[in-house]
Amino acid sequence: MSARKSTGRKKKAAAKKTASKKGVRAGSQASKRANAKRRADKSAAAKAASQRRVFFFGGGKADGHAGMKELLGGKGANLAEMTSLGIPVPPGFTISTDVCSDFNRRSGKLPVAVKADVLTALANVEKLMDLRFGDPERPLLVSVRSGARASMPGMMDTVLNLGLNDDTVIGLAKMADERFAYDSYRRFVQMYGDVVLDVPHDRFEQRLEAEKETRGVDQDMDLSAADLKRVVRDYLEIVREATGAVFPQDPQEQLWGAIGAVFGSWENQRAIAYRRLNDIPDDWGTAVNVQSMVFGNMGDNCATGVAFTRNPSTGEKNFYGEYLKNAQGEDVVAGIRTPQPINEESRAEDTRELPTLEAEMPKAYRELVKIYKRLEKHYRDMQDIEFTIQDGTLWMLQTRSGKRTTGAAVQIAVDMARERLITKEEAIGRVDANSLDQLLHPTINRSEAPPVVARGLPASPGAAVGEVVLSAEAAEAKAKGGAKVILCRTETSPEDIVGMNAAEGILTAKGGMTSHAAVVARGMGKCCVAGCGALAINYEQGVMRIGEHLVREGDVITVDGSSGEVMLGEAPTVTPELGGAFSQLMKWTDKIRRLRVRTNADTPHDAEVARSFGAEGIGLCRTEHMFFEPGRILAVREMILASDGVSREVALAKLLPMQRSDFEGIFRAMDGLPVTVRLLDPPLHEFLPHSEEDIQAVADSLGRSLGDLRHALESLHEFNPMLGHRGCRLGITFPEIYAMQVRAITEAAVNVSRDGVRVKPEIMIPLVSHEKELERLRALAEQVIADVRQENKGTRVRPTIGTMIEVPRAALTADRIAAHADFFSFGTNDLTQMAYALSRDDAGNFLPDYVEGGLIDADPFVSIDVGGVGQLVQYGVERGRATRPDLKLGICGEHGGDPASVRFFASVGLDYVSCSPYRVPLARLAAAQAAVMDLEEGT
Ligand code: PEP
Ligand code: MG
Repeated sequence: MSARKSTGRKKKAAAKKTASKKGVRAGSQASKRANAKRRADKSAAAKAASQRRVFFFGGGKADGHAGMKELLGGKGANLAEMTSLGIPVPPGFTISTDVCSDFNRRSGKLPVAVKADVLTALANVEKLMDLRFGDPERPLLVSVRSGARASMPGMMDTVLNLGLNDDTVIGLAKMADERFAYDSYRRFVQMYGDVVLDVPHDRFEQRLEAEKETRGVDQDMDLSAADLKRVVRDYLEIVREATGAVFPQDPQEQLWGAIGAVFGSWENQRAIAYRRLNDIPDDWGTAVNVQSMVFGNMGDNCATGVAFTRNPSTGEKNFYGEYLKNAQGEDVVAGIRTPQPINEESRAEDTRELPTLEAEMPKAYRELVKIYKRLEKHYRDMQDIEFTIQDGTLWMLQTRSGKRTTGAAVQIAVDMARERLITKEEAIGRVDANSLDQLLHPTINRSEAPPVVARGLPASPGAAVGEVVLSAEAAEAKAKGGAKVILCRTETSPEDIVGMNAAEGILTAKGGMTSHAAVVARGMGKCCVAGCGALAINYEQGVMRIGEHLVREGDVITVDGSSGEVMLGEAPTVTPELGGAFSQLMKWTDKIRRLRVRTNADTPHDAEVARSFGAEGIGLCRTEHMFFEPGRILAVREMILASDGVSREVALAKLLPMQRSDFEGIFRAMDGLPVTVRLLDPPLHEFLPHSEEDIQAVADSLGRSLGDLRHALESLHEFNPMLGHRGCRLGITFPEIYAMQVRAITEAAVNVSRDGVRVKPEIMIPLVSHEKELERLRALAEQVIADVRQENKGTRVRPTIGTMIEVPRAALTADRIAAHADFFSFGTNDLTQMAYALSRDDAGNFLPDYVEGGLIDADPFVSIDVGGVGQLVQYGVERGRATRPDLKLGICGEHGGDPASVRFFASVGLDYVSCSPYRVPLARLAAAQAAVMDLEEGT
């Protein structure tokens, strides 16, 4: 916080205090009492709200609101908000997430007080609907649904049509019609049997299929009331057989059973797996929403659907959705019938023939349009809505922020800022920096791709190539073994979540744009082709047909989630071009961020790619990567294995022109921007020859015997090379190597600057742990620079000299090291390795157990360990700047491309982060988000 601001605030606070003191002194006894009473009333109301466990909504009034997601879950909070906005929502109530925690702690018992509150709320619903729960004449039916704080699509349980029994079904038949009543009853018994009573779902399905076969019909809809009565009778018998008890006929018993099952479903396996994957804490719990049923399946003037206020795939500003006539919500998601588009904008290839909601039910559609516009304006975000039309009347069942692809997130954020619905700062905060990766991934090169053999829906963009796997388990197992796989399923279900996460892409035979596969893949940022009609899978035989082609498990296919196309074999990919919204967002991020973003690049090509992504310099050029190129490695080996200074000089003389031309290329690519070149760092053994042939080649070129060379190789063996002869220690023992590199850098800079390139070379010394190392090597480098300048009179090239801070001792003695450095670059890879005593190369064998077991929040090589390694960085910054206030500070470990780490580096005052080229946009966005957070906090 600025000093001026804080003084201003203090003054205001003091003035307020004095004024209130005066007010109290001047006030009468009566006003004092009135104030005290108001305060007491207010705190009593707050207490009541905080103790409330059951929150009613209906008739334009609600106990809760959108800001209460923690307690009411997302669905409950938004149902309350919509109700208060006067939007038509079937009345109901939400039992809070607190009760879920209590319920699961008390092994499935509901507190007595909650039961009483539920009954009171239920009575209010009855009043508003003019129906009664369990009344054989005018029965109220309810839905019982889960609703956690964060959306967990399909992970927990739902029961619909609750309240039906052998008597109320007759009442319902009289109120609506008999077929509808028995269809609702059979749906209810099936759902309740599955969710609450654990009767296998398949048993009901088989019975229903048998009935359809006997009647010679294809669709459930074609079964008559008499058929459905038979099905219900048999369903009840299935339950009795499976559970040993009759199906509960008492609606109250049904209600408590369903509430318990939904609360209990927070602990089911797929919900737990989903929480792990999405970092959702186990103690959040789910709320339960009990709501009056409205029916989309009561006839042809009824429908149910889902819609997005903008296109969730592209972000286009089009109202976009699908619906089914005469159906319940589950039918849309299940992909049993092909949903119809709600309007022309939502029309896809396979729905060309189908009428739209706009055409079929214009009045309800117009109302839906009014409501969606209102919701988007109110929530200031793209909404994902669910609706039901009963007898031509529209009801809203849900609204929430819609999941979207990263491309859509960028488009929507930029459009909304332009529409002045949100600020530019909010737009920057709306895009998940981690997900930007998806935008930068290659797409299919059409000109060389194999022919398209089938088409499905373009459910989630991007392209993926991989081996076909037909089960989630196989996907997981093969991916663990390092294979890239495409998970192919008839349709996916929540059980497949882990396998979907492991796959590169997902292909399904059934389901629409809002099917499970589509929604989940989009959320995960995976490419997905859904509803590919030409696909037929035979799980037993491990094969599938795509049209006339037979594809076996293990065969390679390519799927393109942007076009919906499927290809046999591997298609080559191309780097995508980024759209206008992306560059607009990036421009805004550049205006607001303080932290600069550089790149780690070792070749002119990488430097160019990074520059096109907005890199503002090179923060780390690892020179050793250039040493492995064919034609060079022999000279490098000669340099390392030389027996004396003279033959080493000969080898170095071969390397000098090669290095010089490398640097020239990089300097040209980064014209006008700083380039930090790091001198040789890795342990020398990494370069040594292993095969007989390679050893012989080095022996020959050095004119040494094979035995002699073997001996030299053995002498270079180290027990602990990462802590051995590497980094600046090489420069101390072989100064001629570093001298050659400094010469190559300086001469390259001089050469390109003659061509007008504005070159800003920075020489970086690695693995310094003691200031004397840097002092010695700086003097060496300065001498070489002076020599080159002398040889090139008049040149203005003068590289700066700095060091990496990657050894804990260097961070702890940064004040002394800074005396010899123009800049520091924190090498957080080594710093993490050494601070944790955790081998960078071996941690993979056991670190996942630490993360999965909750010992640490994240892999410290991915996200900076703020409490430990981060403290070394912060200390190094403070101590370094204490000696040299103008010290330039950056970081070039992998953490430079991790958004959470970038936020930390911004907070400790680094000048720049440096990351791999494809992560540059992500780091720019994360840096801007850090600046927005600072603005919000007033720092
Ligand atoms: C580091 O240690 O963070 C670093 C950038 O250097 P390297 O990964 O090359 O050891
Ligand atoms: Mg390092």
